[in-house]
Amino acid sequence: MKPIQLVDLHTQYSRIKSEIDEAVLDVIESSAYINGPEVKKFQAELEEYLGVKHVIPCANGTDALQIALMAIDAEPGDEIITPSFTYIATAEVIALLGLTPIFVEVDTDNFTLDIEDVRAKITEKTKAIIPVHLYGACADMDAIMEIADEHDLKIIEDTAQAIGTTYRSKSGQTHSAGSIGHIGTTSFFPSKNLGCFGDGGAMMTNDDDLAAKLRMIANHGQRIKYIHDSIGCNSRLDSIQAAVLRVKLKHLDTYTQERNRAANYYSQYLGELEQIQPPQTPENSDHGFHQYTIKLTGVDRDALKEYLNDLGIPANIYYPVPVHLQKGYTKYGFGVGDLPVTEALSEVVLSLPMHTELEKEQQDFIINSIKDFITK
Ligand SMILES: *Cc1c(COP(=O)(O)O)cnc(C)c1O
Repeated sequence: MKPIQLVDLHTQYSRIKSEIDEAVLDVIESSAYINGPEVKKFQAELEEYLGVKHVIPCANGTDALQIALMAIDAEPGDEIITPSFTYIATAEVIALLGLTPIFVEVDTDNFTLDIEDVRAKITEKTKAIIPVHLYGACADMDAIMEIADEHDLKIIEDTAQAIGTTYRSKSGQTHSAGSIGHIGTTSFFPSKNLGCFGDGGAMMTNDDDLAAKLRMIANHGQRIKYIHDSIGCNSRLDSIQAAVLRVKLKHLDTYTQERNRAANYYSQYLGELEQIQPPQTPENSDHGFHQYTIKLTGVDRDALKEYLNDLGIPANIYYPVPVHLQKGYTKYGFGVGDLPVTEALSEVVLSLPMHTELEKEQQDFIINSIKDFITK
């Protein structure tokens, strides 16, 4: 059996090596390393794929969130509602801009924003909500857009883990994750579902004015060279990464299918154990399975993780400490007991190896090892 990896980027590369090598060498030959034609072509192809009017590439998914918050003119004192059960980047940019993160619960079964808690935490100062499509499945965007309309809020979808996931709204329309809110953001970090060979990110919007603003802020606040209408930053996707992404975008649907195949296989066998709850897909959403995350009942999660790790199975915990309890974030006034669902989840979740190259033999080994631990 091949050694099991959390993500197997090398095998994935070897399957498309000739396409990738040619694309990368072409960029090197062209020497258009920054803002070259590859970036514009990738942008257009991603717009088409997502069915969104504008894609604005940038340097990484964290920048994408920061630039999005800058583009909606959030001012210090404004409150931004976001889950605590997420990767730190979502809250970090709120804090960096002097805004106030207001942490809300997630649904205990599907890990996306708890709509009731969002409603309960809206105040006069609320400016925006950042739902996170955690592990690859969409938050309840119908409800979130309704709340946005009622309270005149901006919605920034953190789609770093869900690029390529489809959402079906109540009206019957289907949308790509990241194309529903006012702005969507994503990351092309190598291990993400659409990953490049370094850092990369993008913002998506259907709003022409917001698109122009996002583009301006990502480029030092300039529309005309050396004329700076706002404070901006320097956040670019480079041409080599764009060339890699153009090749991989063509395979994204296949990658998503392969992840779903692996997820179904896990769930079929792990679901037989009463101590394990396989991941639940929220109503109205597909799942991209960026992570395959189980919940454990009556099992020592940390001991199981160690046991698997010792067998060469890189199971991992996303995320062991919720943001509201991180030392750097206690100044926002949240403490132990304030988000009981989130706090409980951080103690029972375990993510299993999940990537497009997982073989049945490897999955059988993982499944049997978990069964051995639980029933021993
Ligand atoms: C990866 C990730 C980010 C940040 O993306 P980077 O490209 O690493 O900056 C933001 N939010 C979520 C939910 C992520 O998983």
